[in-house]
Amino acid sequence: MKFERYGIGLIKGMMVTIQHLLRHPTVSQYPEQRLNISRRTRGNELIWSREKCTGCATCAKTCPQGAIEIVTSTNLADNKYEVETYRVDTGYCIQCGLCVEACPYDALFMGYSFERAKYRRGDLVQSDDELLESPERPASGYYHPEIAEKLPEQTLLIDKIVEKRK
Ligand code: SF4
Ligand code: SF4
Repeated sequence: MKFERYGIGLIKGMMVTIQHLLRHPTVSQYPEQRLNISRRTRGNELIWSREKCTGCATCAKTCPQGAIEIVTSTNLADNKYEVETYRVDTGYCIQCGLCVEACPYDALFMGYSFERAKYRRGDLVQSDDELLESPERPASGYYHPEIAEKLPEQTLLIDKIVEKRK
């Protein structure tokens, strides 16, 4: 009796394997295939605007993690602060976005990019030019709906699967 069941189980298992082989894949082949993430993504890197920043340090005071360090000097001629160093330890940052919300001059944004893995802990500290916006480091729409509406529409994996099945 046991001998007869042995062969049937093997065939059933093979049927399941074959069924899956014929199905359309339901995953994307990252990093070759990339889906657009949601426009409402908060992001995980800060984007800083050197031009807009006044050195008020509101962001640093707001940060619950103490992840922002800002060094300023006084420009007595123009009666304003000069930002000498603006540094964020993204290893401590919890992406809460409070600094972005607190900035009174719209000089800070959350980033839309997400590939930030580094080999060394020290490489997670970003300062000055590393924090500026670039094509590789676009700002996210978090707290800035005017940016969100210009971002590409989110690609939904389910739409891709339905498209392939047609
Ligand atoms: S997102 Fe939050 S944790 Fe990160 S730097 Fe801003 S306030 Fe600090
Ligand atoms: S709150 Fe805004 S303007 Fe003030 S130091 Fe931070 S980034 Fe600059």
